[in-house]
Amino acid sequence: MKIIKKSNTINKITHNLDNIGFVPTMGALHEGHCSLIKLSKKKSKKTIVSIFVNPKQFNKKKDFQTYPNKIKQDLAICKKLKVDYVFLPNVKEVYEWNSAISKFPKIKNIMEQKYRKGHFDGVLKVMAQLLSIINSTKVFMGKKDYQQMYLIKKLIKLNKLKTNLIECKTIRIKNGAALSSRNLLLKSYEITLMGKVATTIKKYKKQLNKLEFNSNFIKKKIYKLGINKIDYVELIKLDTLSKVKKISKKTNIFISYYIRNVRLIDNI
Ligand code: AMP
Repeated sequence: MKIIKKSNTINKITHNLDNIGFVPTMGALHEGHCSLIKLSKKKSKKTIVSIFVNPKQFNKKKDFQTYPNKIKQDLAICKKLKVDYVFLPNVKEVYEWNSAISKFPKIKNIMEQKYRKGHFDGVLKVMAQLLSIINSTKVFMGKKDYQQMYLIKKLIKLNKLKTNLIECKTIRIKNGAALSSRNLLLKSYEITLMGKVATTIKKYKKQLNKLEFNSNFIKKKIYKLGINKIDYVELIKLDTLSKVKKISKKTNIFISYYIRNVRLIDNI
């Protein structure tokens, strides 16, 4: 496994290879990330994992400062999974790269866009830089961050990039809670609570075969579990990202809520 810190170097390496799988991450790797890496290993000749905590996508300074950093552990995980290259750039390396990607998709003012002002501008900007630096064949992203994945797909299409986005399923622990690097900031009873939120949504989703979706109804159920703050709970059509009332195979319930000061998202 090679660790590369310079954009120029990884650009040259990837220029000369074919069938490259790229897994962008912000580190503090868990089984969710590992599933993306394993899939990339399966479907590509070479796998590149980037670890870069992008300051531009944090709308709150404190959130950026407290974001978990586990670089030693991350590198050990990558090595174990036989990753070929880890791209570990600093802010300058990423942002001083002269990217050819200039078109950015319009972002609907819904869910994360509504509640985290500027977040997706930062995400799209860093992905434009990374996709321009790394000549990948496939880029692996998680459905856990569905709105993000949806926008990166649009970014790829709009700029006619040669890479294909592979949608990867959300990995959960036994109690139903989705894995997230932010879970490191939570106590074990709080992870239990996360599991209860996921289970409550799953149960409610089953009832929607007979009922129309009612945001206030499900919010009340979640508050009753001991959650103090919910940004949104919506039934969303996956191909248009619009709010709907009737469930179908192409809809999920999307939620953002807080446990203490830790903001969590999921879609089920
Ligand atoms: P992050 O390090 O949080 O920026 O995530 C890097 C990638 O891992 C993104 O494409 C995420 O959607 C994906 N990811 C995060 N959590 C999970 C999970 N529990 N299951 C599958 N993929 C995930």
